[in-house]
Amino acid sequence: MKIVINGIHANLRFSAAHMIPEHDSCGCIHGHSYIVDVVVEGERSGKFGFVADFKEVKGIVREICSVMDHKVLIPLKNKFISFKSIEESIEFDIDGKEYKLPADDCYLLDLKSTSAEDLAEYFTEKVFQKLKDHGAKISSVEICVNEGIGQGAFFTKSE
Ligand SMILES: [Zn+2]
Repeated sequence: MKIVINGIHANLRFSAAHMIPEHDSCGCIHGHSYIVDVVVEGERSGKFGFVADFKEVKGIVREICSVMDHKVLIPLKNKFISFKSIEESIEFDIDGKEYKLPADDCYLLDLKSTSAEDLAEYFTEKVFQKLKDHGAKISSVEICVNEGIGQGAFFTKSE
């Protein structure tokens, strides 16, 4: 059985800025009001016969959303970004464009990109692992990270 959490109604949202290096329009820093939808599949179990507790799933997703909220998302493994510092300030260069941002304004991700695709994979891996750690009998987690309403990337992790 599957449970579904619709991010726009369940308030699984965050606002963040990012850039997609080398992309014509998305190469400039711009923002999105992200919405995260979640599907969890598994066996019904425990005292209440839940696939997973909605409250628990929402809590895990909100925790990830909250650390990214109102930050500039920076992918540490992007091959077009040359970092000069990631201490008090985040300094980097993309194809001759120089950036210097306060560390407080940034959230660094161990990713190649902060595209919807990469963020969907990031969320899915984290949520899947946390639910497993909490003992849920789940077989898959599917997460859609929407860049606003109308466009998003879906990633599925199964056992
Ligand atoms: Zn974007």
